[in-house]
Amino acid sequence: MSYQLNSKIRTLIPYEPICGDFEIRLDANESYINFPRYITDKIQEQIKSIDFNRYPDPYCKNLCKSVAQFYNIDENLITIGDGSDELIGVIINSFLQKGDNIITLSHDFSMYGFYAFLSEMNNIVVDKNEDLTIDVDRMIKTACGNDVKMIIFSNPCNPTSIGLDKQSVRKLINSVESLVVLDEAYMDFWNESLLSETADYDNLIILRTASKAFGAAAVRLGIAVANNVITQALKAVKAPYNVNSVTQKIGEIIYKEKNFITGNIKEIIKNKEFLANGLLKIQKNRPDVFTVYKSDTNFVFMKMENTNKSKEIFEYLKENKIVIRCMGSFLRVTAGSKDQCKKFLALFENKLSSMYGE
Ligand SMILES: *Cc1c(COP(=O)(O)O)cnc(C)c1O
Repeated sequence: MSYQLNSKIRTLIPYEPICGDFEIRLDANESYINFPRYITDKIQEQIKSIDFNRYPDPYCKNLCKSVAQFYNIDENLITIGDGSDELIGVIINSFLQKGDNIITLSHDFSMYGFYAFLSEMNNIVVDKNEDLTIDVDRMIKTACGNDVKMIIFSNPCNPTSIGLDKQSVRKLINSVESLVVLDEAYMDFWNESLLSETADYDNLIILRTASKAFGAAAVRLGIAVANNVITQALKAVKAPYNVNSVTQKIGEIIYKEKNFITGNIKEIIKNKEFLANGLLKIQKNRPDVFTVYKSDTNFVFMKMENTNKSKEIFEYLKENKIVIRCMGSFLRVTAGSKDQCKKFLALFENKLSSMYGE
């Protein structure tokens, strides 16, 4: 007799971020701006007052207040998670039952399909249009024809960087009986959020995160916003002490730093525009070689001719100590500082010249 892992998890391998000694990291959509000294000083000071022998506040009351103030929403409709990744897992696992139909999109954030698989859901993958925009009518038709219990997608989308306007998202939510989980991880960089309308819907959960625009990926802090009924259910099913006291304190501090955060967001968007415009300029001279998509996020997404070409560019950049993301024939580049974007653009153009000639 010997223990056997079940077939579902037997072949899984742990997630491996790109490791190595890179000068410039443009691979994970993080902010390139770390907390300044005055904020780390505040954090240090506040952490001293934590009762480390006690469990954390299961409802993160003070943190919810900070977040609610930042976004001008009702603090009672907020649930905090150990990153939004945890919330995605908890929501899929508990708001659905085994075998339920769930809609995910392709291409979209891979964790949705992963958790749906782990929780043994029936994942109906709806394709996006050729230009990577979302076909809302196709989603509605699929949802209504298949007794779909949940629709989950990112808006703006990671990895495509493309956003779906408010009007279309509202239409989707209003046209289906499914729970819509709207992952607005990058919405701090765009202005088509439904956050202020969450309480108007009986089938909407919006997710936000401190990992991107807030420059706090290390802290692990995710946010779910929904009406009262859903929020109560979410609080009931999550692990009671899912957010540690250190994270709660840090979150409380950074969501009060509205000027600092909004200033950073402006700067990141400016650099993203610089990066996108630089790529479009290069692309103008080589229209058949690659496509650059509209970006509503802090990163730029492009499609190379084929997988070999994207890989070659990815490897060349890596040799030059710059790391980006390569996904099949697509490349995803996070906006770094202006200087980092410049370095990337120069190397990218250089590589294209050697691949395709001057
Ligand atoms: C980065 C990202 C998240 C954030 O996850 P955290 O666990 O909060 O760090 C969630 N959704 C999408 C689409 C992302 O790209």
